[in-house]
Amino acid sequence: MVEVDTFFWWSDEQKEFAKKVGQFVEDNLEEAELYFWKQKFPHSIVKKVAKEGFFGPGVPKQYGGLELGATGGCIAAEQLGRLYAVGHVFTVSMLAGLEQILRFGTEEQKEAWLPSVADGSEIGAVCITEPFAGSDAANVMTTATKDGDEWVLNGKKRMITAAGVADRYFIYAKTSDDPANRKQYAHITSFVVKKGTPGFSLEKINPLIGFDNAPNGYIDFDNVRIPDFNRVGEVGKGWAVMMAALNFERLIGSAVLIGGVKDIIQFTFHYTKRRIQFNRPINRIRNIQFDIADIITKYKIARLYSYHTAHQLDSGMEPMIEASIAKLMNTEYLVDITRKAIQVCGGDALTKFYPLERMYREAKIGEIVAGTSEIQRLIIYRFSAMLPRWNVPIKFRWNDEVNAPLISKRDSRFKGLEINEENLLKVIADDYKINPGIYMTLDDVREDIGGSRVKIKQSIEFLENQGLIVCHRDRSGKIGLVKATYKGLSKAFPKEYYRWFPSWYDEADKF
Ligand SMILES: Cc1cc2nc3c(=O)[nH]c(=O)nc-3n(C[C@H](O)[C@H](O)[C@H](O)COP(=O)(O)OP(=O)(O)OC[C@H]3O[C@@H](n4cnc5c(N)ncnc54)[C@H](O)[C@@H]3O)c2cc1C
Repeated sequence: MVEVDTFFWWSDEQKEFAKKVGQFVEDNLEEAELYFWKQKFPHSIVKKVAKEGFFGPGVPKQYGGLELGATGGCIAAEQLGRLYAVGHVFTVSMLAGLEQILRFGTEEQKEAWLPSVADGSEIGAVCITEPFAGSDAANVMTTATKDGDEWVLNGKKRMITAAGVADRYFIYAKTSDDPANRKQYAHITSFVVKKGTPGFSLEKINPLIGFDNAPNGYIDFDNVRIPDFNRVGEVGKGWAVMMAALNFERLIGSAVLIGGVKDIIQFTFHYTKRRIQFNRPINRIRNIQFDIADIITKYKIARLYSYHTAHQLDSGMEPMIEASIAKLMNTEYLVDITRKAIQVCGGDALTKFYPLERMYREAKIGEIVAGTSEIQRLIIYRFSAMLPRWNVPIKFRWNDEVNAPLISKRDSRFKGLEINEENLLKVIADDYKINPGIYMTLDDVREDIGGSRVKIKQSIEFLENQGLIVCHRDRSGKIGLVKATYKGLSKAFPKEYYRWFPSWYDEADKF
Protein backbone atom coordinates (compact mmCIF):
# COMPACT_ATOMS: atom_id res chain seq x y z
CA MET A 1 0.00 0.00 0.00
CA VAL A 2 1.31 3.43 -0.91
CA GLU A 3 2.17 5.87 1.87
CA VAL A 4 0.24 9.16 1.76
CA ASP A 5 0.90 11.98 4.22
CA THR A 6 -2.38 12.78 5.95
CA PHE A 7 -3.27 15.48 8.47
CA PHE A 8 -4.71 14.76 11.89
CA TRP A 9 -7.83 16.84 11.28
CA TRP A 10 -8.86 14.82 8.21
CA SER A 11 -11.82 12.51 8.75
CA ASP A 12 -11.26 8.75 8.49
CA GLU A 13 -13.09 8.86 5.16
CA GLN A 14 -10.74 11.55 3.85
CA LYS A 15 -7.70 9.56 5.00
CA GLU A 16 -9.01 6.42 3.33
CA PHE A 17 -9.77 8.39 0.18
CA ALA A 18 -6.22 9.80 0.10
CA LYS A 19 -4.77 6.29 0.30
CA LYS A 20 -7.09 5.02 -2.41
CA VAL A 21 -6.31 7.83 -4.87
CA GLY A 22 -2.62 7.65 -3.95
CA GLN A 23 -2.52 3.94 -4.78
CA PHE A 24 -4.42 4.53 -8.02
CA VAL A 25 -1.88 7.16 -9.05
CA GLU A 26 1.05 4.84 -8.28
CA ASP A 27 -0.57 2.15 -10.40
CA ASN A 28 -1.12 4.51 -13.32
CA LEU A 29 2.10 6.56 -13.34
CA GLU A 30 3.64 4.56 -16.17
CA GLU A 31 0.55 4.86 -18.35
CA ALA A 32 0.50 8.62 -17.74
CA GLU A 33 4.16 8.77 -18.87
CA LEU A 34 3.22 6.89 -22.02
CA TYR A 35 0.56 9.43 -22.85
CA PHE A 36 3.01 12.23 -22.16
CA TRP A 37 5.51 10.80 -24.65
CA LYS A 38 2.83 10.10 -27.23
CA GLN A 39 1.43 13.61 -26.63
CA LYS A 40 -2.06 12.21 -26.48
CA PHE A 41 -4.82 13.16 -24.10
CA PRO A 42 -5.08 10.31 -21.55
CA HIS A 43 -8.74 9.43 -22.17
CA SER A 44 -8.34 5.90 -20.80
CA ILE A 45 -6.90 7.09 -17.46
CA VAL A 46 -9.59 9.77 -17.13
CA LYS A 47 -12.20 7.05 -17.66
CA LYS A 48 -10.57 4.96 -14.92
CA VAL A 49 -10.54 7.99 -12.58
CA ALA A 50 -14.25 8.41 -13.28
CA LYS A 51 -14.99 4.74 -12.72
CA GLU A 52 -13.24 4.87 -9.34
CA GLY A 53 -15.52 7.78 -8.39
CA PHE A 54 -12.58 10.16 -7.84
CA PHE A 55 -14.44 13.02 -9.54
CA GLY A 56 -16.90 12.98 -6.67
CA PRO A 57 -15.21 14.29 -3.50
CA GLY A 58 -16.74 17.77 -3.70
CA VAL A 59 -20.25 16.56 -4.58
CA PRO A 60 -22.79 15.83 -1.80
CA LYS A 61 -23.85 12.20 -1.41
CA GLN A 62 -27.45 12.94 -2.41
CA TYR A 63 -26.20 13.78 -5.91
CA GLY A 64 -23.99 10.71 -6.18
CA GLY A 65 -20.79 12.20 -4.76
CA LEU A 66 -18.48 11.29 -1.89
CA GLU A 67 -19.13 14.47 0.14
CA LEU A 68 -15.53 14.92 1.22
CA GLY A 69 -15.58 18.70 0.84
CA ALA A 70 -12.87 21.02 -0.41
CA THR A 71 -10.37 18.88 1.50
CA GLY A 72 -11.43 15.82 -0.49
CA GLY A 73 -11.16 17.85 -3.71
CA CYS A 74 -7.63 18.93 -2.81
CA ILE A 75 -6.66 15.37 -1.90
CA ALA A 76 -7.77 14.14 -5.32
CA ALA A 77 -6.16 17.10 -7.12
CA GLU A 78 -2.86 16.68 -5.26
CA GLN A 79 -2.63 12.99 -6.03
CA LEU A 80 -3.92 13.17 -9.61
CA GLY A 81 -1.57 16.09 -10.27
CA ARG A 82 1.19 13.47 -10.39
CA LEU A 83 -0.48 12.16 -13.57
CA TYR A 84 0.04 15.46 -15.47
CA ALA A 85 -2.84 16.04 -17.91
CA VAL A 86 -5.18 13.94 -15.76
CA GLY A 87 -4.66 16.30 -12.82
CA HIS A 88 -5.31 19.41 -14.88
CA VAL A 89 -8.46 18.01 -16.41
CA PHE A 90 -9.70 16.81 -13.02
CA THR A 91 -9.13 20.29 -11.61
CA VAL A 92 -10.93 22.26 -14.29
CA SER A 93 -13.73 19.74 -14.22
CA MET A 94 -14.20 20.55 -10.55
CA LEU A 95 -14.07 24.26 -11.33
CA ALA A 96 -16.55 23.99 -14.17
CA GLY A 97 -19.63 24.51 -12.14
CA LEU A 98 -19.31 22.40 -9.02
CA GLU A 99 -19.07 25.20 -6.49
CA GLN A 100 -21.19 27.50 -8.65
CA ILE A 101 -24.02 24.99 -9.04
CA LEU A 102 -23.86 23.98 -5.39
CA ARG A 103 -24.22 27.59 -4.27
CA PHE A 104 -26.37 29.14 -6.97
CA GLY A 105 -28.06 26.28 -8.83
CA THR A 106 -31.72 25.37 -8.40
CA GLU A 107 -32.62 21.93 -7.06
CA GLU A 108 -33.51 20.82 -10.63
CA GLN A 109 -30.12 21.98 -11.92
CA LYS A 110 -28.30 20.16 -9.11
CA GLU A 111 -30.18 16.98 -9.89
CA ALA A 112 -29.54 17.38 -13.61
CA TRP A 113 -25.82 18.17 -13.51
CA LEU A 114 -24.14 17.13 -10.26
CA PRO A 115 -24.39 13.35 -10.79
CA SER A 116 -22.41 13.68 -14.02
CA VAL A 117 -19.78 15.82 -12.22
CA ALA A 118 -19.50 13.14 -9.54
CA ASP A 119 -19.30 10.11 -11.81
CA GLY A 120 -16.99 11.84 -14.26
CA SER A 121 -19.25 10.95 -17.19
CA GLU A 122 -18.98 14.61 -18.19
CA ILE A 123 -15.68 16.47 -18.10
CA GLY A 124 -16.04 20.17 -17.40
CA ALA A 125 -14.26 23.33 -18.54
CA VAL A 126 -14.44 26.78 -16.97
CA CYS A 127 -14.59 29.69 -19.40
CA ILE A 128 -13.82 33.17 -18.12
CA THR A 129 -10.87 34.36 -20.22
CA GLU A 130 -11.37 36.15 -23.53
CA PRO A 131 -9.27 38.25 -25.91
CA PHE A 132 -10.22 41.39 -23.89
CA ALA A 133 -10.62 39.77 -20.47
CA GLY A 134 -7.64 38.30 -18.64
CA SER A 135 -6.85 39.59 -15.16
CA ASP A 136 -9.70 42.04 -15.77
CA ALA A 137 -12.17 39.17 -15.75
CA ALA A 138 -15.19 41.48 -15.66
CA ASN A 139 -14.38 42.77 -19.12
CA VAL A 140 -16.05 39.87 -20.94
CA MET A 141 -17.39 40.64 -24.41
CA THR A 142 -19.16 37.36 -25.09
CA THR A 143 -22.83 38.31 -25.14
CA ALA A 144 -25.92 36.44 -24.01
CA THR A 145 -29.19 37.84 -25.31
CA LYS A 146 -32.58 36.62 -24.16
CA ASP A 147 -34.88 35.40 -26.94
CA GLY A 148 -38.11 33.94 -25.60
CA ASP A 149 -37.19 31.07 -23.28
CA GLU A 150 -33.72 30.84 -24.74
CA TRP A 151 -30.44 32.67 -24.55
CA VAL A 152 -28.35 33.36 -27.65
CA LEU A 153 -24.60 33.42 -27.10
CA ASN A 154 -22.02 35.11 -29.32
CA GLY A 155 -18.30 35.59 -28.76
CA LYS A 156 -15.03 33.84 -28.06
CA LYS A 157 -13.33 32.42 -25.00
CA ARG A 158 -9.62 31.63 -24.89
CA MET A 159 -6.94 29.83 -22.85
CA ILE A 160 -9.60 27.28 -21.88
CA THR A 161 -8.18 24.13 -20.30
CA ALA A 162 -9.78 20.90 -21.51
CA ALA A 163 -11.13 22.74 -24.58
CA GLY A 164 -12.47 20.09 -26.92
CA VAL A 165 -12.23 17.15 -24.52
CA ALA A 166 -14.69 18.73 -22.08
CA ASP A 167 -18.41 18.06 -22.37
CA ARG A 168 -19.73 20.78 -20.04
CA TYR A 169 -18.56 24.43 -20.35
CA PHE A 170 -19.29 26.82 -17.51
CA ILE A 171 -19.23 30.26 -19.10
CA TYR A 172 -19.62 33.88 -18.06
CA ALA A 173 -21.28 36.21 -20.60
CA LYS A 174 -22.31 39.84 -20.76
CA THR A 175 -26.06 40.36 -20.37
CA SER A 176 -26.12 44.14 -20.00
CA ASP A 177 -24.44 47.13 -21.65
CA ASP A 178 -25.84 49.57 -19.11
CA PRO A 179 -22.85 51.51 -17.64
CA ALA A 180 -24.59 51.54 -14.24
CA ASN A 181 -24.72 47.72 -14.24
CA ARG A 182 -21.08 47.57 -15.38
CA LYS A 183 -20.09 49.81 -12.49
CA GLN A 184 -21.79 47.47 -10.03
CA TYR A 185 -20.54 44.30 -11.72
CA ALA A 186 -24.15 43.45 -12.53
CA HIS A 187 -23.54 43.00 -16.28
CA ILE A 188 -22.48 39.33 -16.26
CA THR A 189 -24.51 36.12 -16.06
CA SER A 190 -23.26 32.53 -15.88
CA PHE A 191 -24.43 29.64 -18.04
CA VAL A 192 -23.74 25.99 -18.78
CA VAL A 193 -23.18 25.11 -22.42
CA LYS A 194 -22.91 21.51 -23.55
CA LYS A 195 -20.59 20.25 -26.27
CA GLY A 196 -22.58 19.54 -29.42
CA THR A 197 -24.87 22.57 -29.09
CA PRO A 198 -25.26 23.99 -32.63
CA GLY A 199 -22.99 26.99 -33.29
CA PHE A 200 -20.60 26.06 -30.47
CA SER A 201 -17.18 25.11 -31.87
CA LEU A 202 -13.53 24.69 -31.05
CA GLU A 203 -11.33 27.31 -32.70
CA LYS A 204 -7.72 26.59 -31.76
CA ILE A 205 -5.51 24.53 -29.44
CA ASN A 206 -2.55 26.44 -27.95
CA PRO A 207 0.98 25.09 -28.26
CA LEU A 208 2.01 25.92 -24.68
CA ILE A 209 5.19 25.97 -22.61
CA GLY A 210 3.70 23.09 -20.59
CA PHE A 211 0.43 21.15 -20.35
CA ASP A 212 2.05 18.96 -23.03
CA ASN A 213 -0.89 16.61 -23.46
CA ALA A 214 -3.64 18.62 -21.78
CA PRO A 215 -5.49 20.67 -24.39
CA ASN A 216 -5.89 24.38 -23.83
CA GLY A 217 -7.56 26.53 -26.44
CA TYR A 218 -10.11 28.86 -27.95
CA ILE A 219 -13.84 28.25 -28.29
CA ASP A 220 -16.37 30.10 -30.39
CA PHE A 221 -20.05 30.83 -29.82
CA ASP A 222 -21.87 31.66 -33.04
CA ASN A 223 -25.55 32.26 -32.26
CA VAL A 224 -25.49 29.40 -29.78
CA ARG A 225 -28.99 28.85 -28.37
CA ILE A 226 -29.37 27.43 -24.88
CA PRO A 227 -32.47 27.10 -22.70
CA ASP A 228 -33.00 29.43 -19.75
CA PHE A 229 -32.62 26.30 -17.62
CA ASN A 230 -28.85 26.52 -18.33
CA ARG A 231 -28.56 29.89 -16.64
CA VAL A 232 -26.91 29.50 -13.21
CA GLY A 233 -27.89 32.17 -10.70
CA GLU A 234 -29.91 35.28 -11.41
CA VAL A 235 -29.43 37.44 -14.49
CA GLY A 236 -26.66 39.95 -13.71
CA LYS A 237 -25.31 37.91 -10.80
CA GLY A 238 -22.54 36.18 -12.76
CA TRP A 239 -19.80 38.14 -11.01
CA ALA A 240 -21.05 36.93 -7.62
CA VAL A 241 -21.14 33.37 -9.00
CA MET A 242 -17.56 33.72 -10.27
CA MET A 243 -16.30 35.22 -7.01
CA ALA A 244 -18.04 32.59 -4.88
CA ALA A 245 -16.18 29.86 -6.73
CA LEU A 246 -12.80 31.55 -6.72
CA ASN A 247 -11.60 30.46 -3.28
CA PHE A 248 -12.15 26.83 -4.16
CA GLU A 249 -10.67 27.40 -7.62
CA ARG A 250 -7.45 28.95 -6.32
CA LEU A 251 -7.06 26.31 -3.69
CA ILE A 252 -7.61 23.25 -5.84
CA GLY A 253 -5.59 24.83 -8.66
CA SER A 254 -2.60 25.11 -6.36
CA ALA A 255 -3.10 21.66 -4.79
CA VAL A 256 -2.83 20.01 -8.20
CA LEU A 257 0.56 21.61 -8.79
CA ILE A 258 2.05 20.66 -5.46
CA GLY A 259 1.28 16.95 -5.94
CA GLY A 260 4.25 16.36 -8.19
CA VAL A 261 6.72 17.74 -5.65
CA LYS A 262 6.66 14.38 -3.92
CA ASP A 263 8.12 12.92 -7.14
CA ILE A 264 10.66 15.73 -7.33
CA ILE A 265 11.92 15.04 -3.81
CA GLN A 266 12.15 11.31 -4.44
CA PHE A 267 13.94 11.95 -7.70
CA THR A 268 16.54 14.30 -6.22
CA PHE A 269 17.36 11.76 -3.48
CA HIS A 270 17.51 8.97 -6.05
CA TYR A 271 19.71 10.88 -8.47
CA THR A 272 22.16 12.56 -6.12
CA LYS A 273 22.89 9.26 -4.36
CA ARG A 274 23.95 7.75 -7.67
CA ARG A 275 25.77 10.62 -9.34
CA ILE A 276 29.52 10.64 -8.59
CA GLN A 277 31.64 13.76 -9.09
CA PHE A 278 35.06 14.42 -7.62
CA ASN A 279 35.04 10.81 -6.48
CA ARG A 280 32.02 11.06 -4.19
CA PRO A 281 28.25 11.00 -4.57
CA ILE A 282 27.01 14.54 -5.00
CA ASN A 283 24.55 14.09 -2.10
CA ARG A 284 27.57 14.50 0.19
CA ILE A 285 28.02 18.06 -1.06
CA ARG A 286 26.60 20.55 1.43
CA ASN A 287 24.88 22.86 -1.06
CA ILE A 288 23.12 19.90 -2.70
CA GLN A 289 21.83 18.85 0.72
CA PHE A 290 20.73 22.42 1.47
CA ASP A 291 18.83 22.71 -1.82
CA ILE A 292 16.99 19.46 -1.14
CA ALA A 293 16.27 20.63 2.40
CA ASP A 294 14.79 23.86 0.97
CA ILE A 295 12.61 21.87 -1.43
CA ILE A 296 11.27 19.69 1.38
CA THR A 297 10.63 22.73 3.58
CA LYS A 298 8.63 24.52 0.90
CA TYR A 299 6.70 21.36 0.05
CA LYS A 300 5.68 20.82 3.66
CA ILE A 301 4.67 24.44 4.21
CA ALA A 302 2.68 24.55 0.96
CA ARG A 303 0.79 21.34 1.78
CA LEU A 304 0.08 22.40 5.33
CA TYR A 305 -1.22 25.80 4.32
CA SER A 306 -3.34 24.41 1.47
CA TYR A 307 -5.09 21.89 3.68
CA HIS A 308 -5.50 24.46 6.44
CA THR A 309 -7.31 26.67 3.90
CA ALA A 310 -9.38 23.71 2.65
CA HIS A 311 -10.41 23.06 6.25
CA GLN A 312 -11.52 26.69 6.59
CA LEU A 313 -13.64 26.33 3.44
CA ASP A 314 -15.14 23.12 4.76
CA SER A 315 -15.94 24.89 8.03
CA GLY A 316 -18.12 27.37 6.14
CA MET A 317 -15.63 30.24 6.17
CA GLU A 318 -14.77 32.40 3.13
CA PRO A 319 -10.96 32.28 3.24
CA MET A 320 -10.40 34.82 0.48
CA ILE A 321 -6.99 35.93 1.72
CA GLU A 322 -5.88 32.41 2.63
CA ALA A 323 -6.90 30.96 -0.76
CA SER A 324 -4.90 33.68 -2.51
CA ILE A 325 -1.92 33.06 -0.22
CA ALA A 326 -2.12 29.32 -0.96
CA LYS A 327 -2.25 29.98 -4.70
CA LEU A 328 0.56 32.54 -4.58
CA MET A 329 2.78 30.53 -2.28
CA ASN A 330 2.33 27.13 -3.91
CA THR A 331 2.94 28.40 -7.41
CA GLU A 332 5.92 30.60 -6.57
CA TYR A 333 7.37 27.86 -4.37
CA LEU A 334 6.95 25.43 -7.23
CA VAL A 335 8.96 27.59 -9.61
CA ASP A 336 11.70 27.77 -7.01
CA ILE A 337 11.49 24.07 -6.15
CA THR A 338 11.71 22.91 -9.77
CA ARG A 339 14.53 25.36 -10.56
CA LYS A 340 16.50 24.11 -7.54
CA ALA A 341 15.81 20.45 -8.35
CA ILE A 342 17.18 20.96 -11.86
CA GLN A 343 20.25 22.72 -10.47
CA VAL A 344 20.83 19.84 -8.07
CA CYS A 345 20.67 17.21 -10.80
CA GLY A 346 22.59 19.18 -13.44
CA GLY A 347 22.40 18.70 -17.21
CA ASP A 348 20.55 15.40 -17.10
CA ALA A 349 17.63 17.21 -15.52
CA LEU A 350 17.30 19.42 -18.60
CA THR A 351 16.60 16.46 -20.86
CA LYS A 352 13.10 15.19 -21.42
CA PHE A 353 14.27 11.74 -20.27
CA TYR A 354 13.75 12.86 -16.70
CA PRO A 355 10.57 14.56 -15.40
CA LEU A 356 12.12 17.72 -13.93
CA GLU A 357 12.22 19.88 -17.07
CA ARG A 358 8.52 19.19 -17.63
CA MET A 359 7.71 20.14 -14.05
CA TYR A 360 9.75 23.33 -14.37
CA ARG A 361 7.73 24.34 -17.43
CA GLU A 362 4.44 23.49 -15.74
CA ALA A 363 5.47 25.50 -12.67
CA LYS A 364 5.67 28.71 -14.71
CA ILE A 365 2.08 28.21 -15.83
CA GLY A 366 1.00 28.12 -12.20
CA GLU A 367 2.10 31.73 -11.66
CA ILE A 368 -0.29 32.91 -14.39
CA VAL A 369 -3.26 30.58 -14.54
CA ALA A 370 -6.31 31.18 -12.28
CA GLY A 371 -5.19 34.71 -11.44
CA THR A 372 -1.58 35.83 -11.75
CA SER A 373 0.73 36.21 -8.75
CA GLU A 374 0.25 39.98 -8.99
CA ILE A 375 -3.53 39.61 -8.77
CA GLN A 376 -3.15 37.33 -5.73
CA ARG A 377 -0.94 39.97 -4.10
CA LEU A 378 -3.55 42.63 -4.86
CA ILE A 379 -6.23 40.53 -3.20
CA ILE A 380 -4.07 39.71 -0.19
CA TYR A 381 -3.21 43.37 0.31
CA ARG A 382 -6.64 44.86 -0.39
CA PHE A 383 -8.63 42.46 1.76
CA SER A 384 -6.07 42.53 4.57
CA ALA A 385 -6.14 46.33 4.54
CA MET A 386 -9.85 46.14 5.35
CA LEU A 387 -9.38 43.90 8.37
CA PRO A 388 -9.62 45.64 11.76
CA ARG A 389 -6.96 43.32 13.17
CA TRP A 390 -4.27 44.86 10.92
CA ASN A 391 -5.54 48.38 11.46
CA VAL A 392 -4.86 48.89 15.13
CA PRO A 393 -3.45 52.38 15.86
CA ILE A 394 -0.14 52.10 17.69
CA LYS A 395 0.15 54.68 20.49
CA PHE A 396 3.56 55.91 21.50
CA ARG A 397 3.75 57.95 24.73
CA TRP A 398 6.76 59.89 25.92
CA ASN A 399 8.29 58.34 29.04
CA ASP A 400 10.31 60.86 31.08
CA GLU A 401 12.08 58.16 33.09
CA VAL A 402 13.89 56.79 30.04
CA ASN A 403 13.41 59.96 27.99
CA ALA A 404 12.06 57.96 25.06
CA PRO A 405 8.76 57.07 23.39
CA LEU A 406 7.23 53.78 24.55
CA ILE A 407 4.38 51.82 22.98
CA SER A 408 1.74 52.43 25.60
CA LYS A 409 -1.93 52.08 26.44
CA ARG A 410 -1.81 55.24 28.57
CA ASP A 411 -3.90 58.28 27.68
CA SER A 412 -2.13 61.24 26.19
CA ARG A 413 -1.32 64.07 28.58
CA PHE A 414 -3.66 66.24 26.47
CA LYS A 415 -6.67 64.00 27.05
CA GLY A 416 -9.72 65.91 28.27
CA LEU A 417 -8.36 69.40 27.51
CA GLU A 418 -10.74 71.86 25.97
CA ILE A 419 -10.87 71.59 22.19
CA ASN A 420 -9.53 74.84 20.86
CA GLU A 421 -6.91 75.80 18.27
CA GLU A 422 -4.14 76.20 20.83
CA ASN A 423 -4.61 72.77 22.41
CA LEU A 424 -5.11 71.01 19.10
CA LEU A 425 -1.94 72.53 17.72
CA LYS A 426 -0.10 71.24 20.80
CA VAL A 427 -1.42 67.71 20.18
CA ILE A 428 -0.33 67.78 16.56
CA ALA A 429 3.03 69.40 17.28
CA ASP A 430 3.71 67.00 20.14
CA ASP A 431 3.29 64.13 17.70
CA TYR A 432 6.26 65.52 15.72
CA LYS A 433 8.49 64.76 18.70
CA ILE A 434 7.63 61.07 18.48
CA ASN A 435 6.70 60.62 14.82
CA PRO A 436 8.64 63.29 12.93
CA GLY A 437 8.10 61.66 9.55
CA ILE A 438 4.44 60.67 9.55
CA TYR A 439 1.06 62.37 9.72
CA MET A 440 -1.71 61.87 12.32
CA THR A 441 -5.14 60.64 11.33
CA LEU A 442 -8.12 62.58 12.68
CA ASP A 443 -8.83 59.53 14.84
CA ASP A 444 -5.28 59.77 16.29
CA VAL A 445 -5.92 63.42 17.14
CA ARG A 446 -9.25 62.61 18.76
CA GLU A 447 -7.72 59.70 20.65
CA ASP A 448 -5.19 62.12 22.16
CA ILE A 449 -7.52 64.94 23.13
CA GLY A 450 -11.02 63.39 23.16
CA GLY A 451 -14.21 65.36 22.54
CA SER A 452 -16.37 66.26 19.59
CA ARG A 453 -15.30 65.34 16.06
CA VAL A 454 -17.10 68.37 14.64
CA LYS A 455 -15.21 70.76 16.91
CA ILE A 456 -11.90 69.05 16.11
CA LYS A 457 -12.59 69.36 12.40
CA GLN A 458 -13.45 73.05 12.70
CA SER A 459 -10.27 73.81 14.65
CA ILE A 460 -8.18 71.82 12.21
CA GLU A 461 -9.54 73.80 9.27
CA PHE A 462 -8.71 76.98 11.14
CA LEU A 463 -5.14 75.79 11.86
CA GLU A 464 -4.74 74.86 8.21
CA ASN A 465 -5.87 78.32 7.10
CA GLN A 466 -3.32 79.86 9.45
CA GLY A 467 -0.56 77.74 7.87
CA LEU A 468 0.12 76.06 11.22
CA ILE A 469 -0.64 72.57 9.97
CA VAL A 470 -0.95 70.83 6.60
CA CYS A 471 -3.88 68.57 5.80
CA HIS A 472 -3.77 65.64 3.42
CA ARG A 473 -7.15 65.14 1.74
CA ASP A 474 -8.57 62.00 0.12
CA ARG A 475 -9.96 61.94 -3.42
CA SER A 476 -13.32 63.28 -2.26
CA GLY A 477 -11.62 66.26 -0.58
CA LYS A 478 -12.14 64.97 2.97
CA ILE A 479 -9.34 65.67 5.46
CA GLY A 480 -7.63 62.38 6.30
CA LEU A 481 -4.22 63.24 7.76
CA VAL A 482 -2.69 66.24 9.51
CA LYS A 483 0.82 67.37 10.39
CA ALA A 484 2.32 70.50 11.99
CA THR A 485 4.26 72.90 9.79
CA TYR A 486 7.49 74.61 10.87
CA LYS A 487 5.39 77.63 11.81
CA GLY A 488 3.02 75.42 13.81
CA LEU A 489 5.82 73.62 15.64
CA SER A 490 7.40 76.96 16.59
CA LYS A 491 4.09 78.33 17.84
CA ALA A 492 3.16 75.23 19.87
CA PHE A 493 6.34 74.73 21.90
CA PRO A 494 9.76 76.33 22.38
CA LYS A 495 12.58 74.82 20.29
CA GLU A 496 14.02 73.12 23.37
CA TYR A 497 10.91 70.94 23.57
CA TYR A 498 11.85 68.99 20.46
CA ARG A 499 15.57 68.55 21.17
CA TRP A 500 16.90 65.14 22.13
CA PHE A 501 20.45 63.84 22.45
CA PRO A 502 21.84 60.52 23.61
CA SER A 503 23.60 60.60 26.99
CA TRP A 504 27.02 60.06 25.38
CA TYR A 505 26.68 63.15 23.22
CA ASP A 506 29.17 65.82 24.21
CA GLU A 507 27.68 69.08 25.57
CA ALA A 508 30.43 70.95 23.78
CA ASP A 509 29.22 69.67 20.41
CA LYS A 510 25.65 70.93 20.88
CA PHE A 511 24.63 74.21 19.32
C1 LIG B 1 -2.17 27.05 -19.17
C2 LIG B 1 -3.29 27.98 -18.91
C3 LIG B 1 -4.55 27.48 -18.63
C4 LIG B 1 -5.63 28.34 -18.47
N1 LIG B 1 -6.87 27.81 -18.27
C5 LIG B 1 -7.95 28.65 -18.22
C6 LIG B 1 -9.27 28.13 -18.14
O1 LIG B 1 -9.47 26.91 -18.08
N2 LIG B 1 -10.30 29.00 -18.14
C7 LIG B 1 -10.13 30.35 -18.19
O2 LIG B 1 -11.10 31.07 -18.19
N3 LIG B 1 -8.88 30.88 -18.26
C8 LIG B 1 -7.80 30.07 -18.28
N4 LIG B 1 -6.53 30.59 -18.37
C9 LIG B 1 -6.36 32.03 -18.43
C10 LIG B 1 -5.75 32.62 -17.16
O3 LIG B 1 -6.67 32.63 -16.12
C11 LIG B 1 -5.23 34.01 -17.54
O4 LIG B 1 -4.12 33.79 -18.39
C12 LIG B 1 -4.83 34.83 -16.33
O5 LIG B 1 -5.95 35.18 -15.56
C13 LIG B 1 -4.06 36.09 -16.72
O6 LIG B 1 -4.67 36.77 -17.75
P1 LIG B 1 -3.82 37.18 -19.04
O7 LIG B 1 -3.06 35.98 -19.49
O8 LIG B 1 -4.76 37.78 -20.01
O9 LIG B 1 -2.77 38.21 -18.54
P2 LIG B 1 -3.00 39.84 -18.29
O10 LIG B 1 -4.23 39.99 -17.51
O11 LIG B 1 -2.94 40.46 -19.63
O12 LIG B 1 -1.77 40.16 -17.46
C14 LIG B 1 -0.49 40.54 -18.00
C15 LIG B 1 0.37 41.04 -16.86
O13 LIG B 1 -0.21 42.22 -16.27
C16 LIG B 1 -0.36 42.02 -14.87
N5 LIG B 1 -1.56 42.70 -14.40
C17 LIG B 1 -2.76 42.78 -15.02
N6 LIG B 1 -3.60 43.51 -14.28
C18 LIG B 1 -2.93 43.88 -13.16
C19 LIG B 1 -3.27 44.66 -12.01
N7 LIG B 1 -4.46 45.19 -11.85
N8 LIG B 1 -2.31 44.85 -11.07
C20 LIG B 1 -1.09 44.29 -11.20
N9 LIG B 1 -0.71 43.57 -12.28
C21 LIG B 1 -1.63 43.37 -13.24
C22 LIG B 1 -0.50 40.51 -14.72
O14 LIG B 1 -0.20 40.09 -13.38
C23 LIG B 1 0.51 40.04 -15.72
O15 LIG B 1 1.81 40.11 -15.16
C24 LIG B 1 -5.43 29.74 -18.52
C25 LIG B 1 -4.16 30.25 -18.75
C26 LIG B 1 -3.09 29.39 -18.95
C27 LIG B 1 -1.74 29.97 -19.20
